[in-house]
Amino acid sequence: MKSIIEELEYLTSIPALSGMEDRMIKEMVNRFKPLADKVEIDRLGNVTATFFGNLNNEPSLLVFAHVDELGLMVRKIEKNGYIRFDRIGGVPEKTLMGQFMDIHTIDGKNMVTGIVGTYAHHFTPPEAKLTVPSNKDMYIDIGVDSSSEVLDKGINIGSGITYHPDFKQISDHRVSGKTLDNRIGCLMLIALAEHLKKNKPAGNVYVVASVQEEFNIRGVMPVFYLLEPDASICVDITPACDTPDLNFTYEMSLGKGPAVTQMNFHGRGTLAGIIPNPHLRMFMENILDEMNIPWQRDMSLGVITDDAFTIMAGTKGVAMAHFAIPMRYSHSPIETADIRDIKAGIQVLNKIVSRFDHSLDLRRGI
Ligand SMILES: [Zn+2]
Repeated sequence: MKSIIEELEYLTSIPALSGMEDRMIKEMVNRFKPLADKVEIDRLGNVTATFFGNLNNEPSLLVFAHVDELGLMVRKIEKNGYIRFDRIGGVPEKTLMGQFMDIHTIDGKNMVTGIVGTYAHHFTPPEAKLTVPSNKDMYIDIGVDSSSEVLDKGINIGSGITYHPDFKQISDHRVSGKTLDNRIGCLMLIALAEHLKKNKPAGNVYVVASVQEEFNIRGVMPVFYLLEPDASICVDITPACDTPDLNFTYEMSLGKGPAVTQMNFHGRGTLAGIIPNPHLRMFMENILDEMNIPWQRDMSLGVITDDAFTIMAGTKGVAMAHFAIPMRYSHSPIETADIRDIKAGIQVLNKIVSRFDHSLDLRRGI
């Protein structure tokens, strides 16, 4: 693996809208192939890298992170060439106008860069100055004058649209760009696979790059039904609240270490979230303490990830935990994270997976 910053710049440059993740699927397969005992892709696109355990009768562990990203989809092409769109996943309308976007051809092979138009400032009506229009009223300009020119470029209704990458290191420890959610997780999976290549686990470990999380948070479910792991750790970001607007609504900051989720809950109609298996959660926390690595307790309403549904998958249930890296400005094109948190996250995740074996009693009620 190259440096964390180089890897993140590279991984965030790969577009992978939910349901159109082929480029990231290919990337993860290529990264896992030389490391794992077996690499498989299911029909949805989930990539599973299996590392067979050293010993018999040891519990299996599935570690996963989603590869997909949120974005937009072409809804309508106006006669004069402007493109209308709907959202795929939780794209914040307020950061869309004035942004560069990549519009993908309908075959997914090429893309064209366009801009989300914004009022000419000189002519902005007073009532529009401090408000955000609905995405229904926004449009993308790809520099042509007719719908036929748009179609000639291979763009059509259903074409995917993703943020144009603009990765930057903004200080000694901080980086900013699109899709740190969840290319940070992908990077941690790659680092874990490299670690497992050299350090065989006790039981089987499945390292899974999953799809469609930003769309419907259920993409990884078939993997759970197929493998029925004993335990699982989801790796994703969690929103930091150390900015003037959020003002520590939740105690989560950049630079204070990775986070162990105590609870998250969406609370907007899905009635879904995660309360982790207490034994698995405390196992992770103890390792963090033993390693003398600062860490944070993640407790957040309004947040949801894949594990909300996978926790209920299979017939026996899965002991689930969630390991997260704090990140500011979630789902915007300028998501921001601290390299120190990611570095510590990699070290700890590798240790957690290496230490996971039968000595950890995951049973409830004991
Ligand atoms: Zn995510």
